[in-house]
Parts: sequence; C-alpha cells; structure tokens
Amino acid sequence: MIHGKDIHKAYGNIQVLRGVSIDIERGEVVSIVGPSGSGKSTLLHILGTLDKADSGTVTMNGVDVRALSPQKLAAFRNRNIGFVFQFHHLLPEFTALENVCIPGWIAGRKKKEVQQEALELLEILGVSHRLQNKPAELSGGEQQRVAVARALINKPAVVLADEPTGNLDTTNAKELHDLVFDLRDRFRQTFLIVTHNEELARLSDRVLYMKDGLIVSQ
Ligand code: ATP
Ligand code: MG
Repeated sequence: MIHGKDIHKAYGNIQVLRGVSIDIERGEVVSIVGPSGSGKSTLLHILGTLDKADSGTVTMNGVDVRALSPQKLAAFRNRNIGFVFQFHHLLPEFTALENVCIPGWIAGRKKKEVQQEALELLEILGVSHRLQNKPAELSGGEQQRVAVARALINKPAVVLADEPTGNLDTTNAKELHDLVFDLRDRFRQTFLIVTHNEELARLSDRVLYMKDGLIVSQ
C-alpha cells in the first residue's frame, strides 16, 4: 500500500533522511517512534506527497507519485490519503461540523450522507457537543479530534497521522485507538502513525524506530 525506497532528504546542509525504505501493506497499523529531530515528520510529509524527496521513490496504492502532474497529485491525495498533522489547519470561518464535512463535499459526495458520517465520527471522538462552534472556540484537544474526523470522512485508503494523541487525555486517546483499529478491521484502512503514546505503539501491528534519518529497527 505504501512503499518508500531509499528516500533521501536534506534541508540546506542538514541531511534529514539518509536512505529510508519502508513497506506497509493494506490494513496494517504501523507506528513510528524515535527522538525529536530524527526525521519522523519529514518522512510522513514525503510519503504523503506534501513534500518531495531529493532521491528515492514513493509508491502509494500502486501509483508512483513522481509520475503525477501537480493537478493529478492533488486529486490523488484528496482521494487516497487522510492527514492528521500537528497543526490542524481547521478552517477558522467554518464550524466543527462543516470542517469535517468539507472534504466529503469537495469529493462530490451526497451532502446528507457526508453529514451523517461526520456526526457519527464526531460522536465517537467525543466532540458532538461542539458541532456548531468555530475552531477558535475549541480547546486544542477538541480541535485535534475534529481534525481526526476530517481526515477520516472520505475513508481514505491511507491515513498518515503525526502525534494524533498529542493533546488528548487518556480517555480520548483510548477512544482514538479504538476507532483506528475498528476502521482498520471494517474497511482495511492503512494507518501510519508517529506517536509517543506507548499504548498506541503497543497495540500496533508493527513499530518502526527512527534515529538520525534512518529506520534502525522494527
Ligand atoms: P519531533 O519528534 O520533534 O516532531 P521529527 O522526528 O518529526 O521530530 P522532523 O520534523 O522530521 O523531526 O525534522 C528533522 C530535522 O529536519 C530537524 O532537525 C528539523 O529541524 C529539520 N527540518 C524539518 N523541516 C525543515 C524545514 N522545512 N527546513 C529546514 N529544516 C527542517
Ligand atoms: Mg515531528
């Protein structure tokens, strides 16, 4: 489902990724752990086609992403990949519910069906009391859970998450884990999750350990 081969990436003269290869099959839940600055977020951005590697290849759902034009790449991303990143980038002028629905509407899905699924996701994630609030009126953890719901609304084949439990208390983190494994079991969605959460790492099918720009062990 996700295949990265010999990925290198430098920012200026800092070599951030030094030949990372990674293979994740459909329906796997894989965690990435490792010290700050080891290149975890950079790898997620490159696998998610938000950033380009200096060398190496990324194949996602059978498609070599380098072969796609910028326009095709954007469509590919919208259809296949859900992102949960540290900065949630919720749209400030829209409500929590609208933020979750928007990717579904952009994908041209039926308005009612999208709204129904958004309500279910927000309920599971424990933010259904904040449906009509704007992001600025939500706590960090609530914004994070809205961002998770938004990433999941189109049931993307691949979900890339960077510290999705970062702002969550134990109960909400647990609900998020349960949701991840439920979605994997029901829809065979694939999850690649950067996390410091030991419980989530323990429950994952595999844990990859990153250090100094390399995956050093599984
Ligand atoms: P953390 O656990 O703190 O989130 P990380 O493993 O996600 O760390 P990255 O964000 O991938 O680490 O960063 C790896 C290195 O690349 C760091 O030294 C960082 O300062 C540097 N870096 C990341 N993005 C950029 C950028 N856009 N420009 C310059 N340097 C960058
Ligand atoms: Mg990071």
